[in-house]
Amino acid sequence: MKTNHNYSKIKESYLFAEVAQRTSKYAAEHPDAKIIKMGIGDVTLPLCKAVVDAMHAAVSEMGVKETFKGYGEYRGYDFLCESIVGYYKKFGVELDTEEVFVSDGAKSDLGNILDLFDEDNTVLVTDPVYPVYVDTNILAGRKIIYADATEENSFLPLPDNSVHADIIYLCSPNNPTGAAYTRDQLKLWVDYAKKEGAVILLDAAYEAFITDPDVPHSAYEVAGAKECVIEICSLSKTAGFTGTRCGYTIVPKSLKFDQDLNKLWLRRQSTKFNGVSYIVQCGANAVFTEEGLKGIRENIAYYQENAKILMKALDECGIKYFGGKNSPYIWLKCPGGMGSWEFFDKLLSEANVVGTPGEGFGENGKGYLRLTSFSTHENTAEAMARLKKMLGK
Ligand code: PLP
Repeated sequence: MKTNHNYSKIKESYLFAEVAQRTSKYAAEHPDAKIIKMGIGDVTLPLCKAVVDAMHAAVSEMGVKETFKGYGEYRGYDFLCESIVGYYKKFGVELDTEEVFVSDGAKSDLGNILDLFDEDNTVLVTDPVYPVYVDTNILAGRKIIYADATEENSFLPLPDNSVHADIIYLCSPNNPTGAAYTRDQLKLWVDYAKKEGAVILLDAAYEAFITDPDVPHSAYEVAGAKECVIEICSLSKTAGFTGTRCGYTIVPKSLKFDQDLNKLWLRRQSTKFNGVSYIVQCGANAVFTEEGLKGIRENIAYYQENAKILMKALDECGIKYFGGKNSPYIWLKCPGGMGSWEFFDKLLSEANVVGTPGEGFGENGKGYLRLTSFSTHENTAEAMARLKKMLGK
């Protein structure tokens, strides 16, 4: 028996381990320091009432013989698929319920979707990148090429027609840079994918943070996208489901290629997945009700207020940054030409604030630091006051 030696080719989750190690070392040496963590990518506000009520009701149903549910549909319950179809209608996108697949979150689907593709495909990712796209493909032995996301292209690389790719990962709004493609920019990727016969895996985990009317909520707002885009969505950041676990992936029936991807994905899911719990799907369904949408928007508005506090302070410090407007992430250029870890250490030791060094997301992240808006108003404001004091502003 031989094991998968590709595991030795992926980097240890060095970034967050190193952040945690440096932070706890500092905390141990300075027990009075009130450290504020601005690097967390997890939500902090609880589930909204509509979701909690729906889940309570579902639990009760599961305890009664007449309403008890066993295995559900592989694709997800019809009531949830219909609600998701209804949500897309708000963006002018018409979907069939059979194009919606409910999952236990975007991360699983981002990895699992690779079961549909041949090992010889060339994968294109951006640099900096959400590491899951890279690691899942390295594990499968695929070749990866990088599109540079830099300050020059506002961290939004566009297709290079001299380069061939088969599988293209786009994350918009982006983790870590917070940059988001406009409809016109996304159209260039759709046209390129169609020319190359490639599939785009669009990670829309931060869709709910979009405020700019030129930025599409769904890739399917762009003509031709239904022939080349699989859209992977999550309720984690949209509705605080990081611990509850629910997402959905859209696989249009018009994704033909050499096999029908919608049929293939249903086959894959029915082979390896037995669905998301009824209780969680009822909670997810409540997100799309009027009351649920109101509840999640209030939470998102809270995080967006934090993003504004961050952006205002960075403006006052004269620090260049990206993101924040359509995303909970703010990607700042370390002042004075400092490296990511150098600025991380300075911020930790002089302001007791923790960010995430950009270089952990790729070569082009060197010299950048990611801050998130998932903290409290009070901590966000306090962290920024300390940053200003540190920089003498
Ligand atoms: N995609 C991106 C870009 C993310 O940043 C995250 C989580 O941080 C995920 C996917 C994972 O989402 P989920 O919690 O639905 O697995």
